[in-house]
Amino acid sequence: MKGPLHRRTLPAPSTPGSLSDRARAAYLGMALGDALGATVEFLTPREIAHQYGQHDQITGGGWLHLKPGAVTDDTTMALALGNALLDKGLDADAIAQAFDGWLRAKPVDCGNTVRRGIIHWRRTSETEVPLSEHDAGNGACMRVLPIALYLHGAEREALDAACRLQSHITHHNPLSDAGTLCVVECITAALDGADLDTLRDGPIARLVAEHPLFAYDNKRQENPSGYIVDTLRAVFQALTAQGDFRAVLVDVVNRGGDADTTGAIAGMIAGALYGFDELPQVWLARLDPRARELCEAQAEALIATAEVALA
Ligand code: MN
Ligand code: MN
Repeated sequence: MKGPLHRRTLPAPSTPGSLSDRARAAYLGMALGDALGATVEFLTPREIAHQYGQHDQITGGGWLHLKPGAVTDDTTMALALGNALLDKGLDADAIAQAFDGWLRAKPVDCGNTVRRGIIHWRRTSETEVPLSEHDAGNGACMRVLPIALYLHGAEREALDAACRLQSHITHHNPLSDAGTLCVVECITAALDGADLDTLRDGPIARLVAEHPLFAYDNKRQENPSGYIVDTLRAVFQALTAQGDFRAVLVDVVNRGGDADTTGAIAGMIAGALYGFDELPQVWLARLDPRARELCEAQAEALIATAEVALA
């Protein structure tokens, strides 16, 4: 199998702390956060406390009436993006086509901005929606994980360009762009073994310096909306306040609001940061087996592709 393009040997998939272990944990972390948070999506913290005490088990239900362990658009759009990258590389048209196929397959949920962007592509063949001051939703950020794996080891400029390429199919907004790049940089650093302080003082601090709206260390962000600023403030607060994977996810989803999406984004970062062994076994056992299989296979394939692309 060792062609001239394979210069490094991949570590065994199960080695704790290895790149492939962290990549797999990032994917499963995203799916777990999505499945955990979907139950309480659009509830307020008070409503969650009233109904569940603390919501910390994967039980399905919620406004989408999900089966326990089912994932939503956050995870399935990421998988569609990942498939396009594996098939065609960084090709905006192939990615738009993958999103279109995803929408045609009648996903359990689809955000308004996402739907509008895909329909724009159907009508115009344009892979970029017009710049919008208003469409600063979290829909481009929630699906971005495959970019971090596919371009693992690339420079910041290349990451930025790839984030915009996939984002602008549906979301074209400076705050969405900045927040999405920051999440990719956090994942990238965590895949390389960076600790929480390094994420906080590096990519997160840089985002806040460039866009002070993202400052997260003042007022507690409860009930985060789908606005990228609210979403990431909740994610950063939970991530920096808690010291392990489970605590980060329980903290963020119990804030309510767009809880499946805060869960998915916190889960991809915390998964990469803490690794596979930190993922709660009881949650993994509940996760939809098909979603788990697709996540693990895609994580492995993307990391293997990154080795080739950067060799
Ligand atoms: Mn969702
Ligand atoms: Mn959501």
